Amino acid sequence: MRSSARLKYLVHTMGIDKFRELVEAYYGKKIEQWQTLPPWKYLDWMGWHEQGDGKLMLGINVEQGRVADFPADHSYHPGLRLKSCLRLLVDRYDLGMTLTPSQSIVLRNIEPKTKLDIEAILREHGVKPIEEIDAITRKSIACPAFPLCGLAMTEAERAQPEINARMRAKLREMGMETVEFVTRTTGCPNGCARPYMAELALVGSGPNQYQLWLGGSPAQTRTAVMTSHFKMPLNELENYLEPIFAMYKSQRTSPEEALGDFCHRVGVPAVEEFMAGYELGSWTSLPDPFAPPKVTTDADVGIESKLLAKLGEEASARGYDAATLLDMIVREALEG
Ligand code: SF4
Repeated sequence: MRSSARLKYLVHTMGIDKFRELVEAYYGKKIEQWQTLPPWKYLDWMGWHEQGDGKLMLGINVEQGRVADFPADHSYHPGLRLKSCLRLLVDRYDLGMTLTPSQSIVLRNIEPKTKLDIEAILREHGVKPIEEIDAITRKSIACPAFPLCGLAMTEAERAQPEINARMRAKLREMGMETVEFVTRTTGCPNGCARPYMAELALVGSGPNQYQLWLGGSPAQTRTAVMTSHFKMPLNELENYLEPIFAMYKSQRTSPEEALGDFCHRVGVPAVEEFMAGYELGSWTSLPDPFAPPKVTTDADVGIESKLLAKLGEEASARGYDAATLLDMIVREALEG
C-alpha cells in the first residue's frame, strides 16, 4: 500500500475518505467524526501561573534559546547568568523543566511559599521578569546557524537580538512603540526556527543577506509568503522595514489588526508595490487613522524641564504629542 516514506503522502495519494476506510478496516471499528476545535491561541506560558495542583509554574524567556552565563560586557545580555540560575533553582527546589517550542523554559512544581525566594534568585542572576522583556523579543526565535550549523549561510541566533533592537528602534521612531509581532530568523532556507509561520521573517540567503517573508498570523496558523526581496542586506534592514511599517500604520483597518494579518489581507504584491513607490522618511506625512485625537489646551502646568523632555520623547514614540500623552496619563491616574 505504501510506496512513499511518509504517511501524509499516502493520505494524499488515497484521499482522506479512502484512507479512513482502510484504517477502519484494519482497526475493526468506525473512527468518530471530526470534533470542532476551539479557535487556536498562541500561549507561551511565560511568567507565573497556577499549574492546577496547588503548585506554581514559571515561564522564563530564553532569548533565542541560549542557556548560558554571559560576560558583564556582553552587548545584549550583560551579566546575565541564566545557566547558573537554572542550575541553582533546580538543585535547591527540585523543579521540573519544560522546554517550550518558542525556545524558552517553564519551571514546574514550584511551592507557592518559595515564590519570593525564587524571584530574588532570578533577580540576583540578572534574569528579567517577563513584564520587562520587549514583546518583539518575547515572540522572536532564531535557529543556531553560525557557528554551530554547517548549513548556515549567515547569522541567525547571534544576530536576532540586534535585529529585534533595530526593529524596535524603527517602530519607536515612527510612533509605533506598542506594535508587536512574531518574527523569526534562520541561517538558511531549511527554516529550523519556523520562519515560514512568522508575521515577518528573515531567511538566510547569503552572507549577511536574507529573504524577506511576510504574512503569517499572530497565532501561527497560517504560512507566510516570500517577497521578491531575496537578498536583503542586513545593514539595510531599516530601509526595507520602514515602508512596510508605514503602510501598516496608515492602512490598517483597526488598531487591533496585526502586522501579519494586515500583510495577508492586502497581499504581498500590494506591500511590494508600496515599498517600491515609498520615499524614506515620508511616513511623517502619511495619515494615522488610529492616532488619538490631539488635546488642545491653554492650561499652563508647571513641569520640570527634564521630565518634560522625557514626556515629549515618549509621546513621539507612541505617535502622540506631549499634551495628549500627559492628558492620557493624568486621566488614567485620576479617573482610572
Ligand atoms: S535553518 Fe539552516 S542554518 Fe539554521 S539550523 Fe536549520 S539548517 Fe542550520
